[in-house]
Amino acid sequence: MTTLLEKEVNEEMEIAKGYVDGVYETVLKRNQGESEFHQAVKEIFDSLVPVFAQHPEYMKAGILERIVEPERIITFRVPWVDDQGNVHVNRGFRVQFSSAIGPYKGGLRFHPSVNASIIKFLGFEQILKNSLTGQPIGGGKGGSDFDPKGKSDMEVMRFCQSFMTELCKHIGQDTDVPAGDIGVGGREIGYLFGQYKRIRNAYEAGVLTGKGLGYGGSLARTEATGYGTVYFVQEMLKDQEDSFAGKTVVVSGSGNVAIYAIEKAHQFGAKVVACSDSNGYIYDENGINLETVKQLKEVDRKRISEYVNAHPHAQYVEGCAGIWNIPCDIALPCATQNEIDEASAKVLVANGVKAIGEGANMPSTLEAIEVFLNNNVLFGPAKAANAGGVAVSALEMAQNSQRIAWTFEEVDAKLHDIMVNIYHNSKNAAEKYGCPGNFVVGANIAGFLKVANAMMVQGIV
Ligand code: NDP
Repeated sequence: MTTLLEKEVNEEMEIAKGYVDGVYETVLKRNQGESEFHQAVKEIFDSLVPVFAQHPEYMKAGILERIVEPERIITFRVPWVDDQGNVHVNRGFRVQFSSAIGPYKGGLRFHPSVNASIIKFLGFEQILKNSLTGQPIGGGKGGSDFDPKGKSDMEVMRFCQSFMTELCKHIGQDTDVPAGDIGVGGREIGYLFGQYKRIRNAYEAGVLTGKGLGYGGSLARTEATGYGTVYFVQEMLKDQEDSFAGKTVVVSGSGNVAIYAIEKAHQFGAKVVACSDSNGYIYDENGINLETVKQLKEVDRKRISEYVNAHPHAQYVEGCAGIWNIPCDIALPCATQNEIDEASAKVLVANGVKAIGEGANMPSTLEAIEVFLNNNVLFGPAKAANAGGVAVSALEMAQNSQRIAWTFEEVDAKLHDIMVNIYHNSKNAAEKYGCPGNFVVGANIAGFLKVANAMMVQGIV
């Protein structure tokens, strides 16, 4: 029999669900064709229903309607000239999503697939991720459909200079602080910073993060996202009295996040047997030789297929989706969005996967997440598991403001503490709002509450 209290709770949930669904309908109408943005919004909105049921004041204040509409979107032309003298035009984006708890903060992605939908999904996720870190940073994201792959250093420099010539009008160390993401690493950040400094005629080091160590960068920023993902998974495992030691791990990607996830997993005693790039994956049953991968990807900018030249016993397989067929205990998707679909998730589960840590942003489809959760796989969602990168970016900003530099060990220890806190805050929020063990819901709620409370006291802006 339903008690009076249960009936009341059910009614509150119904009202909250109706409200959330209504706002989602508006998002669909207002942002037509933006499937990645819809996907990110859906995941977050669905988790927030219990919050609105308990806090109807957020509904009255239109928190959801406001948080899902970017404060500002900037798109711009980026003309540049290649080494042969041909003119090219790319499109630049910056989405300044939320400044409720700090300056807009989020990376720049240079990849041919970049469009408004991708930048908006990343920017929306970034609001809650940044809040979860406990650091005072708002949410933003940007980038361009420029493809740095196969371009000379001078072409990349000319592109970055043209991109920054427009972007510099909209960013600043107290307004909006970009960083790297796919296709934007140390080389690109250097060119972008040089042009910003030249235009502004001022050394505002805190305007970009992910800088080189010689000009304002932070130790451990390069490692932060990958290490942080592994720290988060380690906390999930620890709660089950388990650890990385002796585990078989598959990591997708071979970029910044993947490389340092592999490094930390190895340090924790796991064996990483596979990694990939956008052409295919390698399988090395002896464990991936990370020095070879670093040389190929960080120094020579070559394809992962060349790994087998140095390690002939390893296998290269064309096409990246097949990497999830490799049996493993822990899977760390660290390449790109929607790289694990429902079918891949089912194969991972059938092969006995115990834990997933999302190093990339939104690498699992909504259906894949459901498969993991329904099968009691420990699931560390991106906005919690990969928040270490932006957390150390905030530490880079703090060091820039104080004009000091912490040691690697100091930054790494702070990163570790931040990841442990994110895990426990997500876990506690999930329990408090009736979904124990569901870190998707927990991370969304824990991230959301801080932003919503700041919005509540700042008036209707
Ligand atoms: P990088 O550019 O350094 O590396 C990206 C890797 O993913 C490369 O190996 C790339 O292969 C592969 N990849 C890119 N696109 C695709 C695709 N469509 N299909 C298959 N593989 C692909 O980027 P990062 O390592 O910085 O970023 C990886 C993910 O992590 C992204 O989702 C990013 O948003 C997320 N992230 C990054 C943070 C950071 O600090 N860098 C912070 C938080 C999240 P190829 O070499 O062939 O292009």
